[in-house]
Amino acid sequence: MQSHIRNFAIIAHVDHGKSTLADRLLELTGTVAKRDMAEQFLDSNPIERERGITIKLAPVRMEWNGYILNLIDTPGHVDFSYEVSRSLAACEGALLVVDATQGVQAQTLAHLHQARTGNLVIIPIINKIDLPNARIEETKKELVDLGFREEDILEISAKTGKNVESVLQVAIDRVSPPHGEPDKPLRALVFSSQYDAHKGVVVFVRVVDGSISLDRLKFLFSGAEVAPVEVGYFSPKMIPSSSLSSGEVGYIATGLKDVRFAKVGDTITVAQAVDVSPLEGYKEPKPMVFLGLFPVDSAELTLAREAMEKLRLSDSAFTFRPISSLALGNGFHCGFLGLLHAEIVQERLLREFGLTMIATAPSVEYQIYLRHGAEISIQSASEFPDPSTIEEVREPVMQVAIFGPKRFVGSIMQLVQEKRGIYVDLKYQAEQAEFTYLVPLSEMIVDFFDRLKSATEGYASLDYEFYEYQPVNVVKLDVLVNKEKVDAFSVLVVESQTQFYGRDLVERLAGAIPRQQFQIPVQAAIGGQVIARADVKAFRKDVIQKLYGGDRSRKDKLLDKQKKGKAKMKMIGRVEIPQSAFFAVLKRT
Ligand code: GDP
Ligand code: MG
Repeated sequence: MQSHIRNFAIIAHVDHGKSTLADRLLELTGTVAKRDMAEQFLDSNPIERERGITIKLAPVRMEWNGYILNLIDTPGHVDFSYEVSRSLAACEGALLVVDATQGVQAQTLAHLHQARTGNLVIIPIINKIDLPNARIEETKKELVDLGFREEDILEISAKTGKNVESVLQVAIDRVSPPHGEPDKPLRALVFSSQYDAHKGVVVFVRVVDGSISLDRLKFLFSGAEVAPVEVGYFSPKMIPSSSLSSGEVGYIATGLKDVRFAKVGDTITVAQAVDVSPLEGYKEPKPMVFLGLFPVDSAELTLAREAMEKLRLSDSAFTFRPISSLALGNGFHCGFLGLLHAEIVQERLLREFGLTMIATAPSVEYQIYLRHGAEISIQSASEFPDPSTIEEVREPVMQVAIFGPKRFVGSIMQLVQEKRGIYVDLKYQAEQAEFTYLVPLSEMIVDFFDRLKSATEGYASLDYEFYEYQPVNVVKLDVLVNKEKVDAFSVLVVESQTQFYGRDLVERLAGAIPRQQFQIPVQAAIGGQVIARADVKAFRKDVIQKLYGGDRSRKDKLLDKQKKGKAKMKMIGRVEIPQSAFFAVLKRT
């Protein structure tokens, strides 16, 4: 009965208490017994648990007072905002959670805007009212300024459970029931997927019209036909069910071995259906940041490929293809949603597969218009064509929202200017300032967030989305170590910044390469012309003496240590470069 179903997502700025509220709702509804409860229960992945962040949306079905409540917990970090848009497409309502100690923040606004665009019923909730520094009245005022009615705002503590029960009742009262057509042919929206070793690709679906049983199904866009292995819902584990009917949220284990046939946003119908029109999908997540990943131990190349193939099964936004580098050997060119996403994939490779990878500096995708009329796109400096053939280069520019206390307006403007940002708008909301800027993504992926935080004593928050490609004047900066070009260190730099960037880069690299038996020049060059140089000095004589003279066991120990260290070194010509040097290049000042 659709009249007794409510589908809603929890949205909020990062750390405002979404997952904790989900915990309390699971407990209250008896979906998870209190004794089995762990904090942020739905963050099931170990990296989510350790970092205290939600990476992947998690749907769960709860039963309460005769109602079926489908709740979707969503991630807050901007890299994963596409997960939020998917969740919202499966819901009629959203709980908008705001931390009373912080008030409205950048992602509060971004997610609110998305939910309003999707015509969802939004329930404003002020959380953390148990904290002594809670600013309940101010937060309420901020919400009223955003168009909410004061009497509609709930005040809760997800931690202590205070007033949480009212959230369930209000969700039932205010969120509209689904309005699907049970008698029409099946239409179900795929809003997420994961990979299960036994059941194949498991798609998360919201049934709109008709119902799903174990009959043959087809994906309207990909054309794939499947005989489902299992149908059911999350509670929060996978619970098989004989069918899912209109308005319900659940899963289909498709048995498919390849996620590419089960794309998020696709519409599922029954295999024999004709004339079924697809549901409105949503924008597919597109990788925006690219970097090379190379196994430190080249014998692990095959293992790395298998590991990446596995990761990709549950992470459709992660892309990779084989590449080879003169300096680093064989590896993979990988695409990510952002730097946090890249970090998480690297961490999973290490933890789940024991793989240590060297990462090259991140790059965005550039569109290059060539003199003879062709257009190419490149995602790393090594693909940069001969400058004499280039008509124009374009880079991705983001629309950026920065939200912070008024008193930091000056520092925010200064930072953004330094990052080649273009001012669009500034609005004031009580004590808060909300900026809109256009900022090149290449500037955002360096240290924008950290710089913003330190410029505003941690108060400012940030949200951004792709805006458009805009012309930029970039050149390729090469790095030579001991006169040999190290392709993995090449970067594309805005022309006006080459001097500064080149000097900074060689100094940091020289500092990261350990002294060896001979002096090593580290140079930055553009088109063969050196623009900056720093040297790694040779060992002093007495250091070498110490190494060769004296007591045998100490020397052996030293050699042994060196051998172990070598596992994490790459030989570039005659020079050993430690992994830390590659990381040093990532950290641009
Ligand atoms: P999410 O990122 O929105 O999912 O936030 P989490 O649920 O992971 O919560 C972030 C932090 O805030 C955690 O340390 C929670 O324990 C804490 N927290 C959440 N709700 C409350 C609350 O009502 N009161 C207090 N004191 N802390 C809370
Ligand atoms: Mg969370």
